[in-house]
Parts: sequence; structure tokens; C-alpha cells
Amino acid sequence: MKMQGRVLSVASECVPLIKTGGLADVVGALPGALAGVGWDMRVLMPAYRALRALAADWPEVWREDGLWGGVGVVRMGVVAGITVLLLDAPHLFDREGGPYSGPQGDWEDNAQRFAALSWVAARMAREGFGGWRPDVLHAHDWQGGLAPAYLAYGGAAGVKTVITIHNIAFQGWAAASMLGELRLPASEFHPGALEYYGGLSSLKAGMVTADRITTVSPTYAAELARAEYGMGLQGVITARADVVSGILNGVDTGVWSPETDGDVLNYSVKSMKGKAAARAALCAEFGLDVPGPLAIVVSRMTDQKGIDLIPMVLPDFIAAGGGLAILGSGDPALEAAMRGLHQRFPGRVGLRVGYDEALSHRMFAGADAVLVPSRFEPCGLTQMYGLRYGALPVVAAVGGLADTVIHASPAAMAAGVATGITFHPTDAIAFAQALRQLVQLYGDQKGWGQVQKNAMKHPVGWETSAAAYAALYQGLLP
Ligand code: ADP
Repeated sequence: MKMQGRVLSVASECVPLIKTGGLADVVGALPGALAGVGWDMRVLMPAYRALRALAADWPEVWREDGLWGGVGVVRMGVVAGITVLLLDAPHLFDREGGPYSGPQGDWEDNAQRFAALSWVAARMAREGFGGWRPDVLHAHDWQGGLAPAYLAYGGAAGVKTVITIHNIAFQGWAAASMLGELRLPASEFHPGALEYYGGLSSLKAGMVTADRITTVSPTYAAELARAEYGMGLQGVITARADVVSGILNGVDTGVWSPETDGDVLNYSVKSMKGKAAARAALCAEFGLDVPGPLAIVVSRMTDQKGIDLIPMVLPDFIAAGGGLAILGSGDPALEAAMRGLHQRFPGRVGLRVGYDEALSHRMFAGADAVLVPSRFEPCGLTQMYGLRYGALPVVAAVGGLADTVIHASPAAMAAGVATGITFHPTDAIAFAQALRQLVQLYGDQKGWGQVQKNAMKHPVGWETSAAAYAALYQGLLP
């Protein structure tokens, strides 16, 4: 394989080292997928407390003095095939708690912590280390947002930059008074550059300085230009429309495949017997007896995910023979609402509050459908798991959900391409209508089997995404 180029990826999370959301999956999957098309990617991230021991005897490849109150040392090693650069700066990252918060809530110096990560990324990219220098620096979300800015303002030395927005709701806000402390030039503090509603946003800083802006689906890229979705940054997206694009995430088909999944009774498009057994097992596990379609929800319980709509649409769905198994945690009010449904519909609604990866696999294998009524969804993964496992996605037609599910319209059914059911807008009326269609389709054995087959065959691996990122990088090379 001819080597096309080198990329330094900078992010706050990376599977399998640390994960709080979909960002970590993407950052961890890209190096392997890109290697397949000739791109050499290394990932720079913080050495959080739990990662320090791992890197203890890795070779030191970079040392940065004066890193916001201490020294930062970067050590390089290989984890699960990924070349990882861990920034060990104990004064910033060696703490009890998560990447962004401790027992008392968000760390007060988050702006400085991720400025430090971005600073080191920019310096390592500009100067190279151990004979390796990237052609492209690829920053993720607000935590990496200042890296393109530091390169742009401090001299990029030919290194091109990309920033990927995984969720524009998180913008890395900081007070204007921190401009100097964050090592940003005062001359750039105006609305066309760093200024953001009277303060600073590291995400905006990345968006105004990077050579390319990507987000994780084409529809989300288009939506971001509108105020309902852009969350204050729609003007920046519009101003830079010529460099904005959407590249769908893939899923790890080594982990998510009903043929080989170690957590479930296996099955495939050709032999679906295992799916019926998985459904029975799932009903038994949740204490359910469901004559119609058995749906699942596997989700963070937040306003974004539209979980509050479920109590409004469920009674009719249950009356029509449906059932629902729910796995998730989050907003206490939403958890309480789910508990209420569980109590009201014994034998038809099952609930597990918490986070359980293995259970989520059993749920996708056993389910007839997965419900994703999001208000916005940059890409979304659960609808793609649903496709793979023949659990038909019933999704709001927003963001990546709109880009991955083909609605079972009469035309799509006739053409034999439907993979699920989409609805719009995200409200109880449209959602209820989608569930009525689900019940109807479930009653049509031939139609159901066809849509299920289409869904399971729909490609959702990383190959397509990797090719798109490779093309993006290639377009930046001289
Ligand atoms: P987001 O990143 O906005 O939460 P995604 O659909 O992109 O949404 O990714 C969510 C990921 O987290 C999926 O892999 C999903 O299966 C998983 N997940 C969410 N909640 C749970 C849970 N309670 N238990 C197990 N996995 C969960």
C-alpha cells in the first residue's frame, strides 16, 4: 500500500482507552480504517489518571515546559493497533473523576486543560517529533478546537488543519478576559474571528481557523446552517460553507455483527432462526409477553433524544399489540417517566436503568425495532446497530438518522430498498403515526421480511467513511 500521508489526530477521548460518547468511537476507529487506504494516523490525547500507568514505560517523544503551570511530557505507545500519544501533565489531568468533571461537577480549568492539549498538538505538528511530521492536523470538537487556531496564528509551517464537530451543543465557552491566558492574539478578538457573544469559544476558534470543517453526517452539516440546530454557530457555518462537509460515521462491524457477536444467539440474513430465539430470550429477561412488534430504546435519557415523547405515544402502541424494552440513564425526570410506564404496563414495558454494553447487544439481537425519536442527532449509532441486527429503526428524520435509514414509503417498498421508518417533525403526532406504520408492517410478513433483509445488508462499516476522510486529506495536500 502506497503511503499517502500522515495525520495527527487530537481529541479528548479514544476507544478503547476512554469513552463518554460517540466521539471516542470515531477517534478510535479512524486510525485502523485509514491505514487501509494508506494514511498513517497518530492520536494525541491526555493521560488521565487511569491511563498514566499504561504509559509509564513508553518512550518520551515530546516535552513541553510552561504548560499552564507545569511540565507536559508526551509518551508514545501502541494500543489495540492505534499509535497513541499520551500527554502526561499531572497538574492538569491526574485527577479523580471523568475527563471533564469531578465529584463537584465540571473542572473549573477545563479551558486551560484543553488549551494545553491543543497547544502541544500544534507544536508537535509544526515541528515534528522522532522523524515524524504530519501533513494534516485533525482536531475533534471543542477540546481540540484551539489546535488549528494555534497553528494559524503561530505559523502553520505547511501543516493543514481539519476540525470535526461531533456535537455542536458543546462549544468550549470561556470568558473574554481569558484571551491572553489562552495564548490567543488580542488582534483576533472580533466577531469575524475569536469573539463569540462577548466571550470565547474554542470550537468557534477551530471553525474559523481550520482549512476544512467536517461533521458526522451530510444532513447535520446542512442543518447546522439553521438557527434551530446551529446553536449560535450557524453564522460561522454559513460564512465557511465552502469548506464544510458531512462524513457519516461507521460502526465497528467486528463488534456489531449478529453472525459473530459473542453476547447473543447468532443469526444471519440467510438463517434467521437465532433471531427468533434471541427475541424469546429478551422477552424472558425483561419479563415481557408481546404479540406485536417488540421495540427497544438504548439511549442517554436527555431532551436531545426525545425520550419525553415516549409516554405520549406508548399507550396506543401497547393497545395495538406492541411492547418496549428500555435501557438507559440520565435525566432523573425522564428515568422516572420510564419507571411509570414500566409500572403501568407490566408484561409489555421492561426497564433497566444504567449502562450495560452486553445487555445492549442482547437487546438489538432480540428486538423487532429500535426507536430513536431524537430532536437532533449529529450521526447516531443505535439506528445503525438496528440495521445490522434486523431491528428496524424507527427514527426522526434529522441529522445522521435521515442519512442512514430509508423510509418504507410505498415507492421504496415497491423498489425493494426500504430499511426502516422515518418521521418528521420530532413530535408525538408524527412519532405515533410511525409506530402505527410499524405495527402494520409487522403484520405483513412478506413486507417485513423484505425490509429486515434490506436493513441487514445495508453497509454501515468504516470503509466508506475512511475513503471520504482520505479524499478530504488528499485534497489538502500540495
Ligand atoms: P450519543 O453519542 O449522542 O449518546 P450515539 O447513538 O451516537 O448517541 O451513541 C450512543 C452509544 O452509547 C451507542 O453505542 C449506544 O448503544 C450506547 N449507549 C447509550 N446508552 C447506553 C446504555 N444505557 N447502555 C449501553 N449502551 C448505551
